[in-house]
Amino acid sequence: MTDERGFGTKLLHFGGEIDKTTGASSTPIYQASTFHHFSLDNPPQFDYSRSGNPTRQALENYINVLEGGARGFAFASGMAAISSAFFLLSSGDHVICTEDVYGGTYRLLTAILTRMNIETTFVDMTDPEKVKAALKPNTAAVFLETPSNPTLKITDIAVICSWAKENGLLTMLDNTFMTPYYQRPIELGVDIVLHSATKFLGGHSDVLAGLAVVASDTLGDRMKQIQNGLGNVLGPQDSWLLMRGMKTLKTRMEAHELNARRLAEWLSSHPAVERVYYPGLPGHPGREIHEKQSRGYGAVVSFDVGGGDRAKKLLGAVSIPLVAVSLGAVESILSYPAMMSHAAMPLEVRLERGITDGLVRYSVGLEDIDDILGDLDTALRQL
Ligand SMILES: *Cc1c(COP(=O)(O)O)cnc(C)c1O
Repeated sequence: MTDERGFGTKLLHFGGEIDKTTGASSTPIYQASTFHHFSLDNPPQFDYSRSGNPTRQALENYINVLEGGARGFAFASGMAAISSAFFLLSSGDHVICTEDVYGGTYRLLTAILTRMNIETTFVDMTDPEKVKAALKPNTAAVFLETPSNPTLKITDIAVICSWAKENGLLTMLDNTFMTPYYQRPIELGVDIVLHSATKFLGGHSDVLAGLAVVASDTLGDRMKQIQNGLGNVLGPQDSWLLMRGMKTLKTRMEAHELNARRLAEWLSSHPAVERVYYPGLPGHPGREIHEKQSRGYGAVVSFDVGGGDRAKKLLGAVSIPLVAVSLGAVESILSYPAMMSHAAMPLEVRLERGITDGLVRYSVGLEDIDDILGDLDTALRQL
């Protein structure tokens, strides 16, 4: 029934919007670590909060409904969700990963999973031939992130997934930038969708959380074992707060994007800006593929001001955005990948991936766009 309803309706009627026992207008925060066995012959549905908690369960069902998968999972952070997905692999496995992946995922793959004898080849996924060329006898998984971070490159999800399926590879996709409102990777063949729910899903810079949705019950059973085994679950308070934020996802994303389009166009003709990255711009090389697989362009706009000193000056001169790591909040956030999200990446690798010293990333908030542009214009004129 719910499947035929529109996304905006699903956001508000996902199954956990009314407490079944009291009729309360939201799932209560079940702040409990354990659950009484009223009868040993009939064990309770929930028995211990690491293994299952009703508030977390409501959230897990919620994200699963939105992504159209088989089962959802909530974790303590986006990285907890991503690292749990990699625990599906075994020692000796090989991963093919998009080259301009989120900095934390890069760190996990290159500094931690290498010690577990899991090796990764990073490739430019805008070219499917490069992905195919990276295949090894021990390749087990492909990790996609599209649009990528922070240069917003586009990978053709359906093309990579059908090739991966032919080769028996597991596919994982970081859907943080698009959210299920704009992009639903399971419909395009992805096995596991991952989110830093800290960003647009939560939307208010007040909760750290990660979500995963798997496409099959078999994968669901395996992920459940990993989540319960690692114990990196999201607590009930944060689960509730995340659901609170997610209810307005559609409205926020639409308003974010209207602002982002205006900003990207405005920056494109600004004399102090060398280059603008936004999949909605006419000159973006991945625009056609992006439009095939997504319903929107999102609200992250990256641009190059032509040098490290100029970028640092800009960060000090703006007054509207938070100057910070993170994105996807109601307030605008300006970040500096070279010294923040991608500081863990060696310099030569970073430059090779287009993350220059002059590149800044603007996560466009819900402020009045004229104020955002006015503030940036004042700052850019000082460079
Ligand atoms: C922030 C982010 C992550 C990591 O999420 P945390 O909640 O900070 O652990 C992963 N992927 C992308 C694209 C992100 O922006």
